[in-house]
Amino acid sequence: MSANKQFASHADLDEKQVSFSQISEHAWAYTAEGDPNTGIVIGDDAVLVADTQATPAMAADVIRRIREVTDKPIRYVVLTHYHAVRVLGASAYQAQQVIASQDTYDLIVERGEQDKASEIGRFPRLFRNVDTVPAGLTWPSITFTGKMSLWLGELEVQLLQLGRGHTKGDTVVWLPKEKTLLSGDLVEFDATPYAGDAYFKDWPQTLDRVAALQPSALVPGRGAALTTPEAVAQGLAGTRAFIADVYESVKAGAAAGKDLRAVYAETYQRLKPKYGHWVIFDHCMPFDVSRCYDEVTQHADPRIWTAERDQQMWQSLEG
Ligand SMILES: [Zn+2]
Repeated sequence: MSANKQFASHADLDEKQVSFSQISEHAWAYTAEGDPNTGIVIGDDAVLVADTQATPAMAADVIRRIREVTDKPIRYVVLTHYHAVRVLGASAYQAQQVIASQDTYDLIVERGEQDKASEIGRFPRLFRNVDTVPAGLTWPSITFTGKMSLWLGELEVQLLQLGRGHTKGDTVVWLPKEKTLLSGDLVEFDATPYAGDAYFKDWPQTLDRVAALQPSALVPGRGAALTTPEAVAQGLAGTRAFIADVYESVKAGAAAGKDLRAVYAETYQRLKPKYGHWVIFDHCMPFDVSRCYDEVTQHADPRIWTAERDQQMWQSLEG
């Protein structure tokens, strides 16, 4: 008789303190001590929300904060990528348009159902009042490829695909006039990047393109808002170093003919001193190393995580 070893996330139960702060003339950050962030742009005539929170009940708190500063309609919801923890709160905003890259749309078609079941199973605390999520998936009503601009009155908001990184469909929201970026999970701060659906080889180059925009303020996917060019540079450097360190360690292990379990153990030991204090380190590492091992061996594209594959992987690496 052997009990399944629980995901690390199941021991992660502390409620987080929410902050809602203005980071530039038109942008606000809704952050929660390392839990998923939401970025908000308040234009002349409408509000845009980037990443929705995991459930409509959780999104209701974002809406409450928005209503403390504006009564303009929430017209646009942008999905920076397809992950359930980012998209399942969308219905609460009753936005006219839900916008995502075509690559994100394709991923929702291909793996949205499995991802929903997998993410809710992995991290129950992040899906507060999961019963408020409507049946089915969150579907974009507008898709784009590469770049599109939205005009909120005179305010230009650009949606940009700068390359693959956290997922194939990553989109950032960019306010060119005030050099403010909502990065989604492409950039994290004091939080471990989840890379279970990532492209390790591409991610650093995509971060180069983020840096080339020279943001002076940035809302990362997790962690505190970065409100100076120095802080932005620190967020970019930390994310890049983590991705590069995992990649280097896994690539070397795989090249030496080691199996995933061995590569995982040695990569975990190598990275723990440098990144072990970042939130969700223990949660992310098995997924990140599994994906990286796939990428450097035989799977150019991330394999679909299902609730069953999650369990199987966790038992084989952590059991
Ligand atoms: Zn994500």
